[in-house]
Amino acid sequence: MGYKRVGYKQNAAWVVDETEAEIVRQIFDWYANGIGVGQIADRLTARRILSPAARRRKKNGKTHPPYKWQCGSIYAILHQEAYTGTFYAHREKVVWEMGKNGRKRSKLVTRPREEWLPIEVPAIVDHQTWQKVQERLERGRLMARREPNRHYLVRGRITCKHCRHSVIGSPFSMRGYNYTYYRCNGRSRRITSGDCKLPYFDVKRVDDAVWGQIVEWLQNPDQIERSYNEYLETAEKENEPARQRLAALERELEEIRSKQAKLVELYLSEVYTLEEIKNAKAQMDAAVSAVEKEHAELARSLEVVTMTREQMEHLREFTKRIGEGIDKADFASKRKIVDLLETQVELVYQDGKRIAHVRCVLGEANPAILSNARSAE
Ligand SMILES: [Zn+2]
Repeated sequence: MGYKRVGYKQNAAWVVDETEAEIVRQIFDWYANGIGVGQIADRLTARRILSPAARRRKKNGKTHPPYKWQCGSIYAILHQEAYTGTFYAHREKVVWEMGKNGRKRSKLVTRPREEWLPIEVPAIVDHQTWQKVQERLERGRLMARREPNRHYLVRGRITCKHCRHSVIGSPFSMRGYNYTYYRCNGRSRRITSGDCKLPYFDVKRVDDAVWGQIVEWLQNPDQIERSYNEYLETAEKENEPARQRLAALERELEEIRSKQAKLVELYLSEVYTLEEIKNAKAQMDAAVSAVEKEHAELARSLEVVTMTREQMEHLREFTKRIGEGIDKADFASKRKIVDLLETQVELVYQDGKRIAHVRCVLGEANPAILSNARSAE
C-alpha cells in the first residue's frame, strides 16, 4: 500500500500513490506518538478509509468495500521496509514438505537476508519516524513475551476424573486480590449439566506439583531413556496393523492403475465396445477413489502425536543445560517440556482432599495430594 506500479516487466517502476501514502504516513505518525494499533484501526475504520484488503480486491475487479481495518494490516504496514526507500524482492521461497495426509504440500519460507534483492523505491516515511516506530514495535514484542496474560502450565492437558470434562484455567478476584484456579467444565451450566462437584484447584499448587514431578523425572536420565524406548515400542506395536493395511492398500492401488493402463490397449484391439470399456473405466475409477480415501484416513490416524527422536534429543539437551537449576526455568520453557512429554493431569476430590494425578511419556506419578488451597470454592 502506498505505491502503484507503472509500466510492465523490465520497464516497471514503483511510484508513490499520494492518497495511499498519506494514510501510511498518518499511521506511522500516530504509532510513533504513542497511539496503539487497535486505536489506529478504529480511527481508520471510523473515517471510512478503504482497508488494504478491500483495495486489493478492488484491483482484482471485485467490488467488496469493507472499511474495517484489522490490527494485522496496521502491523504489516508498520513493518514494511519499503517505506524507507528500499523494497526487498525475492524474500521468500516455496518449499515442499509432507502434509498430514501423506501428500506433499507447499509452504512459503523466508530466505536468508543476504539473498534478498533490494530495489530502490521512493521513500514515504522519513528515517527518524521509521526508527521511532521500530523501537516501539520491538518494545511491544518484548513486553508481550515477558507478560503473557495468565500462566496455566497444564492448560489443555487437564481433565476431571469425576465427570471426564476438561478443566480450564480461569482468573478470579476477591477483595482486591487476584487468584487463578482450575475449574471443571462440568460445573459450568453454559457448557454441561453443571452438576460436577469437583472443587476449584489453586493453579499454583497444581502447576508446582506437576512441575515438581517432571523435574524429578528429568533428573533421572536413565529413566528418560528407558521410558522413551518403552514408549516407542508400544507406539510401534499399536501402529503395526495399520502400517500393514497401508502397504496392502498401496499394492491394490498399483494393481488397479496398471489395469487402467491396459484399457487403452483393449480398446485399440477392438475386442470390446466403447461402452464396455467406459463401464470398466468407471468401475476402476470408483475403486481407486475408495482405496485412496481409506489410505488417506489411515495415514492421518498414524500421524498421532508421537514424540520424535529429535524432540527427545532436545529434551535431553535441555535437561543437561539446566541441570540443577531446572526449577528456575521460565514459563515458556516449562510449558514446552510439558507439551513434549505429552503430560496429562487428572484432578480428583476424595475424602476432602484435592488430588492431582500426573502422567506423561516418562511414566505415571503417585497421586499428588494438594492440601486445601485458599480458593473460591
Ligand atoms: Zn468434573
